[in-house]
Amino acid sequence: MIHINQERCTGCKTCVNVCPHQVLELKNKKAKIAHEARCIECGACRLNCRENAVTVEKGTGCLFVIIKEDILGFKKDACTCG
Ligand code: SF4
Ligand code: SF4
Repeated sequence: MIHINQERCTGCKTCVNVCPHQVLELKNKKAKIAHEARCIECGACRLNCRENAVTVEKGTGCLFVIIKEDILGFKKDACTCG
């Protein structure tokens, strides 16, 4: 599970830019989770956030979604593994 502390987030967009699977987006000058099912828990967003606003906990990652979307071409957020 990813969590973004909205109080700490300054909207620098670094986490959005470093995420390899377009999980995050910037909305109203704050980082938001747009496609959580695509997260592979690589931790890049957390490591690169200078404000320590991002938390990444095990349990979110779903490589199956990446395979379905990027390799097989299914639509985004098609996770069915529960
Ligand atoms: S890197 Fe941190 S401060 Fe910057 S947009 Fe992401 S969560 Fe906000
Ligand atoms: S943990 Fe990795 S895949 Fe998940 S949101 Fe952060 S940068 Fe993206």
